[in-house]
Amino acid sequence: MGITIKLITVLSQTNRDEVREFMPVLGSNIKAVLSYPYTYAIAALIVLSLISIKKLNKRIFGISATVLSLIGFIVLLPILYPIKSGRANFSVIGRTIKCGWQSYNERKQIEVYMSSILPLPHPETVKSRQLADIYLIIGESASRAHLSIYGYPIDTSPVLCKIGEGLIVFDDAIGSSTTTAFNMNRILTFLSDRQEAVKWSESPRLFSLLKKAGYYTAWISNQERAGIWGNPTIALVSDADYIKYVGSISSDDATLMRYDESVLPEVFQMAENGDGPKFIGVHLMGSHIQYRKRYPDSFNIFNADSVIGIKRDFALSRSHAATIAEYDNSILYTDHVVGQILDRIKSSQRPALMIYFSDHGENVYDDNDNFLGRDSKHIEVPFVIYANSNFRKYNRDIYERLIDAAVKPLSTANIGHLICTLTGTEYQYYNAGLDVSSPYYVPAPRYVDDVVWKYEHDY
Ligand SMILES: [Zn+2]
Repeated sequence: MGITIKLITVLSQTNRDEVREFMPVLGSNIKAVLSYPYTYAIAALIVLSLISIKKLNKRIFGISATVLSLIGFIVLLPILYPIKSGRANFSVIGRTIKCGWQSYNERKQIEVYMSSILPLPHPETVKSRQLADIYLIIGESASRAHLSIYGYPIDTSPVLCKIGEGLIVFDDAIGSSTTTAFNMNRILTFLSDRQEAVKWSESPRLFSLLKKAGYYTAWISNQERAGIWGNPTIALVSDADYIKYVGSISSDDATLMRYDESVLPEVFQMAENGDGPKFIGVHLMGSHIQYRKRYPDSFNIFNADSVIGIKRDFALSRSHAATIAEYDNSILYTDHVVGQILDRIKSSQRPALMIYFSDHGENVYDDNDNFLGRDSKHIEVPFVIYANSNFRKYNRDIYERLIDAAVKPLSTANIGHLICTLTGTEYQYYNAGLDVSSPYYVPAPRYVDDVVWKYEHDY
């Protein structure tokens, strides 16, 4: 019946536009239910039993109700078992209660996050030359080691590999945490990798700064708005002029899952929006766990055989090789989505930059045949910047500094400082020592989840 947390949230917030989006779906579901002869048979049976209850004495009613319930339960179990969406189809009431509860909790959580945001500190120190439009694309769970542009033997990033001029590939970027939320807290504020991610509300927000700098700001996400695991993303982007969540707003809403290409129409629409400077943030689902659900069939290119062909110093089971292939397909699909955005800004009349990186990596049986999951070793992420020809023409000095910066170690936590330079924005919180493009950049041991990264090279 399409009972989801998003539906309940939408209904409870009575947002007319979004209700309208759902109504046709609900309507067609109800129409379908009314077309089943079973519906009428069951309705008749219910009416019949209601009448007969009145005529039975309590004892006989109790016994027959118990026996019939048991029979019903036993008959239903084997029917439910093989149906994947059994939960959605059979427990509408249970789902409504569950989704209602989750929606209520999410809203309460968002209220807490929103109440802790502060106005931009020292706005009087903001001055911007608005040098370029910025398309900041934040990926999910993509490990640098799995992209062919970084030397992976399977061709998982054919689009990026073909770009050539204008594309700068950073060799040594890492995330600041193994969790999405803690990375986002630092990426979208001026918190460094050495500051606790939970203190996000004490730091200036990137969106707040760019709005003050005169940018039109937008946030387009295929991820959740907020989560009970300390994910305040909705608050971090709350200053944006335009906010759109294209998929399910909670990771529990499997029925509303969308492929990442759903962000594209929104991004393209924003790209056409007026002549002023734009800062567009995009949050992808990327290579989030359950990799097979992240890409459409047309990107189901690699299989276990493609993966088994790669030399390793340990034997890989066939089923694990198949999982790696799914992960690689999700990387290939992200390459396609990122490529679409890149294509759009290539021809832009305005100087424009696309920055793509992932929040953290993932260990997909990379070191042995039994571990899959996140760990601090696999925190190395792809990090590329594409500068269109107008950026290269008008901001040659910055472009050349970026080329020099590409070999330097960096933490994605410090992206805010780099964006200040790329947009020509001055701000009191800007720190050249943390800006990889600055001649005053100070490479230093990086932190992951509040400790020096175990695999850091020497300084
Ligand atoms: Zn993540």
